[in-house]
Amino acid sequence: MSDVIIIGGGLGGLFCGAILAKEGYKVDVFEKNARIGGGLQSFVRSGERFDTGMHMLGGFTENGSVSKLCRYLGIMDKLKLKRVDRDCMDTIHYFSDSMQYRIGEGREGFISSLAAYFPEEEENIRSYVDALYRITDGVDFFHLRSGSADLYSLDKEAFMPADELIASFTQNRKLRDILAYLNSTYGGVAGHTPSYIHALINVLYIEGTYRFVDDSCQMAQLLQQIIEGSGGNVYAANPVTHIAVEERQITHVTDSYGKKHSADRYISTIHPVSLLELLDKGVFPKAYCNRLQSIPNTSSAFLLYLVLKENSFPYINHTCYCQDDYGDAWELYRYDDRWPKGLMYMTPPVSNQGEYSRKMIVVAPMEYGAVEQWSGSTLGIRPDSYAKWKEECVERLLSKLERVCKGIRGQIEHITAASPLTIRDYYNVKEGSLYGYRKDCENIMLSQVPIYTKLKNLLLSGQNINLHGVCGVALTAVNTVEALLGSDVIVNKINNI
Ligand SMILES: Cc1cc2nc3c(=O)[nH]c(=O)nc-3n(C[C@H](O)[C@H](O)[C@H](O)COP(=O)(O)OP(=O)(O)OC[C@H]3O[C@@H](n4cnc5c(N)ncnc54)[C@H](O)[C@@H]3O)c2cc1C
Repeated sequence: MSDVIIIGGGLGGLFCGAILAKEGYKVDVFEKNARIGGGLQSFVRSGERFDTGMHMLGGFTENGSVSKLCRYLGIMDKLKLKRVDRDCMDTIHYFSDSMQYRIGEGREGFISSLAAYFPEEEENIRSYVDALYRITDGVDFFHLRSGSADLYSLDKEAFMPADELIASFTQNRKLRDILAYLNSTYGGVAGHTPSYIHALINVLYIEGTYRFVDDSCQMAQLLQQIIEGSGGNVYAANPVTHIAVEERQITHVTDSYGKKHSADRYISTIHPVSLLELLDKGVFPKAYCNRLQSIPNTSSAFLLYLVLKENSFPYINHTCYCQDDYGDAWELYRYDDRWPKGLMYMTPPVSNQGEYSRKMIVVAPMEYGAVEQWSGSTLGIRPDSYAKWKEECVERLLSKLERVCKGIRGQIEHITAASPLTIRDYYNVKEGSLYGYRKDCENIMLSQVPIYTKLKNLLLSGQNINLHGVCGVALTAVNTVEALLGSDVIVNKINNI
């Protein structure tokens, strides 16, 4: 019997487990996939290692929240990270007027890089960036400050739609679109996604963007070592298949071998809809189940993992975004005749990175509706019609990529493609959603899922609760663990290092 059982060995599960282990708890983590890590997983094709869900990292500056948490866990010095170029953290290329914008890092760098293209808008850009920092400053959990994780004390502007926030600072159509270019990193929808999500993600990357060197599973392995060092276990290829409940308490979970495991407490880090599937009907009230089912999810994506020929394509130390036209930034996920209207590509770094890159990751947002007709199929067993459709998507994506990376087809040695169905089945996440539940300012209550559940010994964590990504999920793990150990217990320790 362990102290805590964690369902899901992804970013959230491993962070919760490592923090608890550091505090002396014996934790057992159950992971469905053969490789632990969830979004931290990587895979090898043609000798090159690719990260699946962790390409740009925020929160790793000296005073960044993730750095602080990793220092408390004793793993910060062991992580191999590379900062992207400070004078150009991202480029955005528009095909409609062949413009390429280079975006600078840091509050002032960001403002001045954009003001160089829009000098008459400098004051508006500054006021807009001030608003981003003002909103972000109000979110205690983001800064690892003592206080509640709830957002209800934030000002009204934090809950207005992000596109409206941008529009309130500038009339310039082009600038409005550029200011929304990071949308694909949080899956925002115009008129719905609250400004606080937009502000947190923008500020996170503006403050400093990093990449894992070689692979992202290094972080999963370091967290696993902490858990095992305290007598716990991380079981890979061993999903939880059933959760038994008596008198509003979990009594045990059953693994894929039919073995029963008990603990004092349980933490679920999987998508809440996937959690419902593990519970018998009637465990949660119908209204709660309906609510979890009805919260909209962020969109999915179609991805290419390209192995490039040796010495053929340069290593680029920033992320590159490209788009057909201004006005598309909020619509990239729509699957229609114009898909893909935009994409992002990046060259992941390796140790002793040279001038050339052997790999590239291309991501094009895509709605789940594009693959819904094959939703009954599973990994490795998909119909021919799906394979044909996937080939067409690869072709459409490469044609678009070729417009910014001339001659890329001739430089490719091997292509692996992933669709929303791949993402759905690898992570067991509804609709292949990249970032879990989508927060909606039209119904902010609906999309705020509390850490506490109706079961006395079950807590929730992971990207569906507060915020997604390496920073959002790591900080949510702190909140969840504090629900067990007492408020500010971990935050104080982290801040006192
Ligand atoms: C394609 C893609 C690109 C992304 N890019 C970035 C990026 O560049 N930067 C960034 O910060 N974030 C990025 N993200 C988001 C980031 O990966 C996620 O926010 C984060 O990994 C979510 O962590 P989590 O623990 O909530 O879920 P996950 O990491 O998905 O972990 C959940 C785990 O639970 C397991 N599981 C499911 N069901 C069961 C079960 N019944 N029993 C046991 N285990 C189970 C799953 O296999 C999975 O490993 C990206 C996501 C995707 C999909």
